Amino acid sequence: MATRSATPSVEQDPGEQPVTVLRGVGPVLAQSLAEAGLERLQDLWFHLPLRYEDRTKVVPIRDVAPGMRVQVEGVVDAAERGFRFRPQLKVALSDASTTTLVLRFFHFTRAQAEQLAPGTRLRVYGEARMGPQGLEMVHPSWQRLLVDTPVEQALTPVYPLADGLQQRRLAGLVGQALALLPDDERLECLPRTLRARYKLSSLREALRYVHRPPPRADVEALLAGHHPAQRRLAFDELVAHNLGLKRLRAAVRARRAPVIEAPGARRASFLDALPFRLTGAQARALDEIDRDLGTGVPMLRLVQGDVGSGKTVVAALAALAAVDAGWQAAVMAPTEVLAEQHQRNFARWLEPLGVRVAWLAGKVKGRARRVALDAVAGDAEVVVGTHALMQEGVAFRRLGLAIIDEQHRFGVHQRLALRDKGAAGTTPHQLVMTATPIPRTLAMTAYADLDASVIDELPPGRTPIKTVVIPAARRDEVVARIRAACAEGRQAYWVCTLIEESEKLEAQAAEAAFEVLRAALGWLRVGLVHGRLKPAEKQAVMDDFSRGATQLLVATTVIEVGVDVPNASLMVIENAERLGLSQLHQLRGRVGRGSAASSCVLLYQGPLSESARARLETMRETSDGFRIAERDLELRGPGEVLGTRQTGEAAFRVADLARDAGLLPDVNAAADVLLADDPAAVERLIRRWVGRAERFAEA
Ligand code: ADP
Ligand code: MG
Repeated sequence: MATRSATPSVEQDPGEQPVTVLRGVGPVLAQSLAEAGLERLQDLWFHLPLRYEDRTKVVPIRDVAPGMRVQVEGVVDAAERGFRFRPQLKVALSDASTTTLVLRFFHFTRAQAEQLAPGTRLRVYGEARMGPQGLEMVHPSWQRLLVDTPVEQALTPVYPLADGLQQRRLAGLVGQALALLPDDERLECLPRTLRARYKLSSLREALRYVHRPPPRADVEALLAGHHPAQRRLAFDELVAHNLGLKRLRAAVRARRAPVIEAPGARRASFLDALPFRLTGAQARALDEIDRDLGTGVPMLRLVQGDVGSGKTVVAALAALAAVDAGWQAAVMAPTEVLAEQHQRNFARWLEPLGVRVAWLAGKVKGRARRVALDAVAGDAEVVVGTHALMQEGVAFRRLGLAIIDEQHRFGVHQRLALRDKGAAGTTPHQLVMTATPIPRTLAMTAYADLDASVIDELPPGRTPIKTVVIPAARRDEVVARIRAACAEGRQAYWVCTLIEESEKLEAQAAEAAFEVLRAALGWLRVGLVHGRLKPAEKQAVMDDFSRGATQLLVATTVIEVGVDVPNASLMVIENAERLGLSQLHQLRGRVGRGSAASSCVLLYQGPLSESARARLETMRETSDGFRIAERDLELRGPGEVLGTRQTGEAAFRVADLARDAGLLPDVNAAADVLLADDPAAVERLIRRWVGRAERFAEA
């Protein structure tokens, strides 16, 4: 390509040199560094300080207030070793401002204690606090001033520590690595034109600034992560991440997928049998899916749609198209309750058309499991289940379409595992549905490997849900409301929540609430459902509620997803302050499905934390899933929103999606330019930031 720049290849990339080129790094140290992910020079370059200490000035002790992190100087007045409860060394330090500061140590060697003898001049850095004898510092760092020692000229970086490695040692290594930074031209992966377009400083300067901020650096901006130097680094990292996902997608696209000619023979019958017509948004999403399925290129499509927008039927129509073309479809959901719900819907819609629907979950064991596995490998046409579908040993005869619900609970890896279950030589199409809308900004980064369809319209006739927030002390009023609603022939949910993710405790709480409510409600018939019930029991309780045989359903959060009873119009959530926004939104989505005006009561136990108050307020203000998702992102950060905290997929080294979201459109555009013009830079960037850890595995 004519525009290709002179980016060095990976082999010539100076950042790829091992840390062993540094002075003092032998095999043992190299091993500890490797365990912390620090293997190459550039790992050290991009190992950025967590915070900074200002050791450029000495503060008179008189001016020190509790909570300040400061450097002071003084002479030891007295030193006292004590053994009250545990060994302790107390050193009284005073300075020309004639104020005393107590230094307190709980771990110290004899030699250290001797160095802190009265009369010694010390320079100390630490956080001041109020102790029993006035102002003190616990375990400050200190040095003896035997000769005139100038103060630091720059802020002192504090690095995230690697096991068995001291701060000073690590800082020294980073310093050595920085001295080996190549010139701009060899370090940069972003061409000059892009840097100019997005007003990005040089990477080299940004790195030097962040590691060694000059004396008059804007510390506040640095600490908040808003400094242009940090933005420059975040940009680099986000581009790398975006490229990783795009490359993954390109690799998948290069594979062959079944050619599925939609709509297929039976779609018309399916649509005829439905009691409703598809909304415009559903039809649009289906069109987009149909188009993907026919190309012979693996589809990677995310269907986003708010709770109740009707994603399931769209998925079922896609599955039917696959089956009509002679392929199998798999439907995977993150929880058993949701998977069961899909199982029922798919069976209800598809079996009358002659489609064979099989079920496979983790709880299916023994003979039943062998039968299920045989069906998967044999004549089943649609297989519905949980994670169990992805396990080894599950072999599909001819998997052509994998449908994954509730995307945010599965990671990229899990998504990929199903992809590998395709028939020899083909990669199944993938359809991902998420009920919790992902903020657009986040989707762009986290799902750069997916195309998106948005179902932004609810089926007609839905009425808005009115939400109120009420302290638990006014529970009686709520019980009266339930009585009134049920007297009008409507139905209600009462959801019990717990902080602990313990099915057992949660079940107990629900049982207790069930007893209390049943006693309080007299003539009403009350049902109880929780995760400890056997599937058949659960089903019986749910069926009773669906038929209207019970009017109030006391439940744990097992009903969070999927449950669909249009006549239920009142939702009470106990201890709502404990739940996250997306969970609250999901739960609330269980009502407002019929034509009656619905309401949701959020009961809370005070006092409320700042963020709990913000969550409840958000729920009261809006029922727009996208707004709620944006707010969730602000309150919790992307790792939690995406549910990838555990898998570490959203773990950036420098970038912070909530903070840097504004960069994402530019990041996306810059990544496209690089992909088109500079494959060597793409390779270097991905290796630089994503490393060889291969988070995106061999695509
Ligand atoms: P979600 O998008 O939350 O998964 P569902 O697929 O569970 O939503 O659909 C919610 C309810 O709306 C179900 O009862 C479903 O049958 C119904 N539904 C879906 N599409 C339509 C439509 N176009 N018109 C009326 N009701 C619909
Ligand atoms: Mg759903």
